[in-house]
Amino acid sequence: MHPDELSSREYQRQRDSDLAHRSVSGGFVYLGFLAALWATTDYFSSHTALLAAITGISAACGAARFLLAYHFDRVYAWNPGAWRVAYFIVINLNALAWGLFLMCTFLLYGYREWKTLLLLVCLAGTAPIGLAAQTPNPLVIRTFLVSLTAPMIAANLYLGGSVNYTMALVFFWYLVFALGHARILHRQYVDYTLEKFALAAAKKSAEDANRAKSAFLANMGHELRTPMNAILGMTHLALNSPADAERRQYLLMVKSAGESLLAMLNRLLDFSKIEAGKVELEAVPFSVRHVADETMQSFIAEARSKGIQLRSHVDAAVPLRLQGDPLRLRQVMVNVVGNALKFTDRGEIESRISRIPDSSAGVLLQFTVRDTGIGIAPEKQLSIFEAFEQADSSTTRKFGGTGLGLAISSRIVELMGGRMWVESQPGLGSSFYWTARFATVSEKAAGGVREAAQAVIPAAATPNLKILVAEDHDMSRQLLKRLLEMRGYIVVAVANGREALREMEQQVFDLVLMDIHMPELDGIGTAAEIRRREQEGKAVPIIAMTAESAESLGERYATSGITEYFAKPIKPDRLFELIEKVYRTVNATGMSGTA
Ligand code: ADP
Repeated sequence: MHPDELSSREYQRQRDSDLAHRSVSGGFVYLGFLAALWATTDYFSSHTALLAAITGISAACGAARFLLAYHFDRVYAWNPGAWRVAYFIVINLNALAWGLFLMCTFLLYGYREWKTLLLLVCLAGTAPIGLAAQTPNPLVIRTFLVSLTAPMIAANLYLGGSVNYTMALVFFWYLVFALGHARILHRQYVDYTLEKFALAAAKKSAEDANRAKSAFLANMGHELRTPMNAILGMTHLALNSPADAERRQYLLMVKSAGESLLAMLNRLLDFSKIEAGKVELEAVPFSVRHVADETMQSFIAEARSKGIQLRSHVDAAVPLRLQGDPLRLRQVMVNVVGNALKFTDRGEIESRISRIPDSSAGVLLQFTVRDTGIGIAPEKQLSIFEAFEQADSSTTRKFGGTGLGLAISSRIVELMGGRMWVESQPGLGSSFYWTARFATVSEKAAGGVREAAQAVIPAAATPNLKILVAEDHDMSRQLLKRLLEMRGYIVVAVANGREALREMEQQVFDLVLMDIHMPELDGIGTAAEIRRREQEGKAVPIIAMTAESAESLGERYATSGITEYFAKPIKPDRLFELIEKVYRTVNATGMSGTA
């Protein structure tokens, strides 16, 4: 049982509504018993007032029960407390009247009379019916049972004698068991009702998620088609254009559309990884200022073209160096600032980073990105953090987007021990806030693992390399061959691992570049075979290409002898950089298989 849920308004309403509707039939049961008394006994002629009184009270209570059920919604909406008090009074008045009526009948006629016997049967029948009907409210069940039986217990004790004492004891025993059962039934009711609520909530959230996913699919189709159309259209123009300069323009547009397609696919893959709990944050020394500056820098051109001012402020209390995952932090900032820019037409966007003093380990930072854009309606301010949710489908059509950015960002922030929220006024702008906890780092240790990784590799003359490329996908193979040849390498391209091994038997290569997923013999198997065949002497460096991460390839990757791994899709400059770095390292150390 959950006390919070029990006190919730929704639960109380359900409970009272159940009470109202269950108790209507009970009101009519009494009238049936009265009809039997009127018809088969001389009660009316001997004690007219008593029978008239109980008949009047029963009829009034029956009518009141009916009205309390029939007009439940109206009365409850007006004042739930008043409904509850009225219900309590009606049920207990009815029960007490019958308890007293039975007591009077017993005092007037004793146990030998048929009237008393008839009323005892009535009581034995109404008590369990009432008990079942009143289970939603434990207080009502208890007072109902006591009101019904207590007068008889009192009368029997008052008159005394072995028969009456025995009857008092039997009534008392009956009362104790009925109260015990009432408790069990009430617990079952609570469990059942809470389960019903949980199921309804789960059903609603499944329906909402389904609706959002359908909208997402429709939106995604549109989002994917737009750059796709641009790619096909521009390619067509480029193919038909005689002028080199014009063709170059078209191809630049094809490249930009391709990049935006890729960004969208990356976002989808990223989200599915986060959903599956497969994302682990890095913990490297980095500078928050650097991340903030870099992010804002990347938006300067776009902001300038829209006439929007960008401001960035990092409080002095924010440590220069921290330990955490700068790439993921940047991803969150890029998404939030990117949204701010997307949904703002004039004014400014301000980013602020401050430190929140707290006693836990590490440093807790608060990030704020404030814009003067279109704002978000209050009812949408929570749901935009859900996957696939967008505040307004009409703005979506205008501005584009997948509805995944904030879902990804808020989950990353949670992984960083923080949370994300928004304050916004439609028409005036929005402020997105998030907190994140980072470990502190000594200045010395901070010497810049990340900086080293980001350092620009000094330009060096392109080495004259002979490279073996193994890639099963026809177009990718041709693309790769052309790119590498344009760089000045000598390239032999084959379609799978077996062909690669055959080629290597006939020629010597400076480096092997191959896909992991290939038919016949895949990249990992090929690498292992190359290493097996290599006798002493220099080992050829092998760079594997895959859309998966090295970790997900597991043990086999680590032991296969692959020198380095390159994540697809191919970014030519990075690939050249890696090829030349690997080649130089291997030649400098004379070693290979350092994966
Ligand atoms: P999308 O790719 O659609 O931008 P997000 O998850 O990043 O996905 O954002 C979800 C929705 O939240 C957006 O479609 C937009 O309706 C709303 N939103 C996000 N940021 C802002 C902002 N700065 N101003 C107004 N609306 C915003």
